[in-house]
Amino acid sequence: MNRRNCPHINVFFLFLGAVGFFGIFSVLSATEKSSFSYLDPLLGPRVDLKSDWIGRHKVPGSMHFLIMAGHADSQGISGAGTAGEAVALQGKSPMDSSISDELYWNLLLRDAIVHIGKERGLHITGYEPGIRNVDDGNHPSTNWSVGAKHVKKGGYALEIHFDSYGEYGFGSGLIPAISLNLNAVDESLANSFGRYPIFFRGGLGAPKRGIRILEIGKLEGKLEKSLRNKQSRNKVIEDVSNRIVDAIVLGIQGEKIPN
Ligand SMILES: [Zn+2]
Repeated sequence: MNRRNCPHINVFFLFLGAVGFFGIFSVLSATEKSSFSYLDPLLGPRVDLKSDWIGRHKVPGSMHFLIMAGHADSQGISGAGTAGEAVALQGKSPMDSSISDELYWNLLLRDAIVHIGKERGLHITGYEPGIRNVDDGNHPSTNWSVGAKHVKKGGYALEIHFDSYGEYGFGSGLIPAISLNLNAVDESLANSFGRYPIFFRGGLGAPKRGIRILEIGKLEGKLEKSLRNKQSRNKVIEDVSNRIVDAIVLGIQGEKIPN
């Protein structure tokens, strides 16, 4: 199993570890599901797991945001990210046969978020590892290494993901860093997208390194269709990026986005 396995459950992972993982999954379902779930008109289901962290620390306007595309450095067999419902279940062609559909969308979103963020006056850059499959997760060019370094210097590192389709995914939401210093931008992103528990799946590699993970939504249904449709693609990418940048800006201002 790849150390950089997606925060969502990918099919390969389930296939390899079906018995063990289904055990965990049923425990999660029984004890951590809250009493209602929310369906976003654009993003689909929002994560519905019990979570009680609050981001309280103030974020200065000078904060440097680093945006990374999930799986950009791990297109190996188990860490590639979700193929999405269209490819995996409906027999559609991948967007780019050399990478997972999830990475295809993660890359477009990363660049759009940085572009819009700069226009809005944020101190924000994107990171491109340049190599699509780095075997060692701690190699200096991986998202993990570059993100961890950025966080150590006082910056905010955010990795973009799409969650798996169907029963394998949980939905949109922020997986916070494993940290006592969760801040107002974490709070704002969680208010806008949903809130994963702090120790989701026992603590993932990225959050352990201080990197935040944003699950945009499950790569399925209306969200995936409107991304694949050339007529609506640009608008969806722009809308999602605007929502992320809005949440960051409101977090810096110390305000909450109303649900
Ligand atoms: Zn992912």
